[in-house]
Amino acid sequence: MARILSATALSRTKMDNIHGKERGQYPFIDVAYLAVPCLHCDNAPCIRAAKDGAIYKRPDGIVIIDPVKAKGQKKVINACPYSAISSKKIR
Ligand code: SF4
Repeated sequence: MARILSATALSRTKMDNIHGKERGQYPFIDVAYLAVPCLHCDNAPCIRAAKDGAIYKRPDGIVIIDPVKAKGQKKVINACPYSAISSKKIR
């Protein structure tokens, strides 16, 4: 099993990074969800933390993670101040 890095910006079919918060007690429980997408930062910390061009910004401003080059670069996960990068196991 391998791991890949992904940013929510790259996933157009589903949101990868959704934070949930529960409050209250049964039977009155309220759950709120907040999607945290990539913000395609200017001077992005994730790009500065990545080696070998694993993360780059396209001319149109979209930040892209190359999953092959980013393999094993766990420090880019912590570099994002918005926790928009996640690591997932793939088969
Ligand atoms: S630092 Fe986070 S929010 Fe900003 S471009 Fe990188 S992944 Fe996106």
